[in-house]
Order: sequence, then C-alpha cells, then structure tokens
Amino acid sequence: MPTFTPALDAWPDAGVYQLWIRLRRSVVLRVGSLGRMRFAAGTYIYTGRASRGLRARVLRHVHGGRCRHWHIDYLLVSPAAHLERVELSSTRPEEECAVNATTGRSAVAAIPRFGASDCRSGCPTHLWRVR
Ligand SMILES: [Zn+2]
Repeated sequence: MPTFTPALDAWPDAGVYQLWIRLRRSVVLRVGSLGRMRFAAGTYIYTGRASRGLRARVLRHVHGGRCRHWHIDYLLVSPAAHLERVELSSTRPEEECAVNATTGRSAVAAIPRFGASDCRSGCPTHLWRVR
C-alpha cells in the first residue's frame, strides 16, 4: 500500500489528490486515445480530483480497476510502476488545476495532455516527472 497523507480515514468526500508514482524502468504504453507513449524511468506526480467519492477513487488507483477509464490507469497497470504516495492536496475539487500548476513549476511535463482531456484551465498535462 502507498502512504496516504493524511491517513485515508481523514479524507473528505471531495477534493484534489496527487499520486507519486515511481517507474523503475522506461516503458512504452498505450494510453487510450493518446496512443503509444514512452515513459522514462523516474518519479511522476499525477494530479486528479473527485467531486464525490474521493476515497473510493484513490483506492481504485491503488487496487486497480477492471476497466481503464482514466489515462493514469494505463500507467498504473504497468508492472514497472509503483504507486508510492497518495496525498490530499485540497478539499476543493475546483482547485485541481491550480494544484497541478504549482507542481508543474518544479517538474517536467511528462506526456502532453495526459489526464487533461477535460481540463478547462489549459494545463499542458496533469502528469509531471520530477527533475
Ligand atoms: Zn488542468
């Protein structure tokens, strides 16, 4: 299990979360509509939100889902990917892109448009690679 910050019991029903994912080696994965993408080895930070059912959402990321709904599902299913940390970044879902932009100031855009299909703030991506 990844580390939850704060402990999952304390999470509200809605909010913004970030996933810290360590990729042990570079991989090429098909990511839904984005097609085949190469991911370099390293540590990634993904920003997402849920307007309700937040705890169920992040647990789904931890345990995996039967169907791949979000771009991040395609990365997490890789045997090379390890979800290390899940953090509650805000209790207000509408702050998702602001949280994401803050992370982007000190990281590299991993895959253009990744996780940003329904983003209305013009984020280049919601998946960053730590420098
Ligand atoms: Zn965004």
